[in-house]
Amino acid sequence: MIVPRARETTIPANAAIITAPLLYRPTCSDCIHARTDLSPKEIDNYLTAIATRLELHRVIGRCRVCGNTGPVFSLHLDAA
Ligand SMILES: [Zn+2]
Repeated sequence: MIVPRARETTIPANAAIITAPLLYRPTCSDCIHARTDLSPKEIDNYLTAIATRLELHRVIGRCRVCGNTGPVFSLHLDAA
């Protein structure tokens, strides 16, 4: 397992593991769980922390990983 180096020290290190797959690719919490092996509560905590720093979208849509329709999360970064 490759652990990305944390460049943003204001975001918990594990958040990078969650955020990377979400970039421009809506993903459901089940798939986040499958990728990260974090508990749903931990995922929720990280997503909450991430949402304070980045533009996190939570919408009803189709997960690009498993194809199920439901609540999915995605990130949109400003090209700053
Ligand atoms: Zn999924």
